[in-house]
Amino acid sequence: MERAPEEEVALLRARIRHHSWLYYHLDAPEISDYEYDLMMARLKDLEAAHPELYDAQSPTQGVGFAGLASFSPVVHEVPMISLDNVFSAEELRSYFHRVEKSLSEEEYRKLRWAFELKIDGLAISVIYRHGLLVTAATRGDGRVGEDVTANILATSAVPRQLSTSGGEAPPDLLEVRGEVYMAKDVFERLNRDQLKAGQPLFANPRNCAAGSLRQKDPKVTAKRQLSFWAYQLARASGDPGITSHMQSLKYLENLGFPVNPHIRLISSEIEILNEISRWEANRQNLNYDIDGAVLKVDDLGIREKLGHTARAPRWAVAYKLAPEERNTKLLAIEISIGKSGRATPFAVLEPVEVSGSTVSRATLHNADQVKLKGVRVGDTVVVRKAGDVIPEVLRFVPELRPADSVDWEFPKSCPLCGSALERRAGESDTYCVNFYCEGRIVQRLAHFCSRSALDIEGLGENTVALFVDLKLISDAPDIFRLQYNQLIGLEGFGEKSVTSMLASIEEAKGRSFSRLLVGLAIRHVGEEVARLIAKRFKSLPELMQALPEDLDQIDGIGEKISSSVREFFENPKSSKICSELIEMGVAINEPGEGLVAAEMEKTLAGKVIVITGTLDGFTRESAEQAVESRGGKASSSVSSRTFALVAGVAPGASKISKANELGVPIIGEDQFLRLLDSGEID
Ligand code: NAD
Repeated sequence: MERAPEEEVALLRARIRHHSWLYYHLDAPEISDYEYDLMMARLKDLEAAHPELYDAQSPTQGVGFAGLASFSPVVHEVPMISLDNVFSAEELRSYFHRVEKSLSEEEYRKLRWAFELKIDGLAISVIYRHGLLVTAATRGDGRVGEDVTANILATSAVPRQLSTSGGEAPPDLLEVRGEVYMAKDVFERLNRDQLKAGQPLFANPRNCAAGSLRQKDPKVTAKRQLSFWAYQLARASGDPGITSHMQSLKYLENLGFPVNPHIRLISSEIEILNEISRWEANRQNLNYDIDGAVLKVDDLGIREKLGHTARAPRWAVAYKLAPEERNTKLLAIEISIGKSGRATPFAVLEPVEVSGSTVSRATLHNADQVKLKGVRVGDTVVVRKAGDVIPEVLRFVPELRPADSVDWEFPKSCPLCGSALERRAGESDTYCVNFYCEGRIVQRLAHFCSRSALDIEGLGENTVALFVDLKLISDAPDIFRLQYNQLIGLEGFGEKSVTSMLASIEEAKGRSFSRLLVGLAIRHVGEEVARLIAKRFKSLPELMQALPEDLDQIDGIGEKISSSVREFFENPKSSKICSELIEMGVAINEPGEGLVAAEMEKTLAGKVIVITGTLDGFTRESAEQAVESRGGKASSSVSSRTFALVAGVAPGASKISKANELGVPIIGEDQFLRLLDSGEID
């Protein structure tokens, strides 16, 4: 559909703002950098073609995003601007042409370019006084960044003290810019550890580096082993007598900064394009991600003459590389069974290296998606990391399709237990009908013990799998029957770990009813729905005795959820599990609002607050209770009546975009704490 330019511009600006927020504030992008860059390029083109649509607030006019309130602001004396991007040899030539027009013939002829790799990390500024690192700050919106000095000092990435071994006396004041990044091997190790600990995986090295640097606790940053390449001398007191970029990099190297060894001087266009192609083909051999190359005029005098716009220097340009796509063979389409029994098809691939990691599986989401993509076993498929994060099968290569391949059919029975796989009318997912399916036991029990449910320390997926293997547990009540003598002596289980696990199991009995509901993994009952149910029924026995129409009457619960809950309790096995849990006194009550709530100052009277994502200091329930005990209403959906959207880690994208669309303020956890106190957003 063709849109009017003003409509398209408005839409692009809103989309770009939304994705910038996810990327810069939450380190959790949902689209690939390339897609983002293409939106930005389209917006720039439209704005250039329609000057009447100029807006100083347009994302094309600024850099990054203002920093989070949880870090102190640092004003950049020399603004940290961005770089203009080009995406093809043709665009690069137009850029050279623009430079040519701004210089004399002689100047342009003598021009030499520093060719640098564009490191995919995040920019920081580091300031030294009398040779000692005193300030480190992120770029923020280019004018004001976030103070991350304590975190940088906790790493060994950046020198704390300038070196004098190169024969240079350190200046009294020095400011250096460069890229903080996480090496690929460090990233892979970190994710292996996460996997072992049953923790969620980090998306990619760039987001992981950004998230690691912007931690509240520098000890966490210290553990993440960040690295740094210095690429710009921003200012130095005295006169170090530097007239070119390459000289400045040598100077920084002598002062002890890591400078990327692949930087080189080039003067011809052809050579520049060759160098770009060389890196395009070799990027996977580097131990860090790059997303392009940067070309910078070497002569500082000429730089001065070319100057800069508010957003980027005219003397440099970034050549962005397209995201890596790789061809590989689709060996099989298999089914995995999730904790609620959901059967998800996934592609088994001939292992292939994509954007720095080996991919051998990629999700195909559901039956409809497989059909839509039309992939068949034996196909050569194109794989990419979605948002540079999750491996995704993009399409198959028709020319390489084997003649005898056939359409894939969703299996009729569960690959693990042989029970029927069922897809109900109107639903896109397919489920294994057997509540006791082997595939579901480990995941179901691990979910039961997970943080969002009963939060039992030490019972991650690996340990649960071991206990299931040893036939120590086969359903939730068994967890509360575990005994010291059964566990002591198992490999990795000493006195201390067994005692602390048993204590954690005991403690879990006191968790709220809504968390127990989450833990039971009833289809369609996540945290939000569990809270709504627990608010109405207060305890498990009460819910089990509820009439169907009682459930239907809960605001926010529709037919789909209520029939799923009913079916769960009608199933003799699940109802037996629940009866046993009740007998054992496990988490059967929802804590009431009680006296404490009555005594709270009603700072939020009449205000509707929506919470999304994981907060550090609150569970979802306790955050909502905190709102309600102050007279506010915790709602599950954003509307024009919403006073604020509180966004934790991994917030719901639809809530964020709705809030952006409606102009509802989005606040972080620190602001939320202050909001509870004062009733105002600061
Ligand atoms: P940029 O990444 O296009 O270029 C500027 C940055 O490049 C600098 O700030 C610096 O951090 C980095 N850089 C790396 N190596 C460098 C070198 N050798 N010399 C100089 N700088 C070097 O622009 P940006 O303003 O930082 O961010 C915009 C980019 O961020 C977008 O182009 C996009 O790729 C990404 N982004 C993605 C999303 C998303 O949703 N995926 C959202 C917002 C931004």
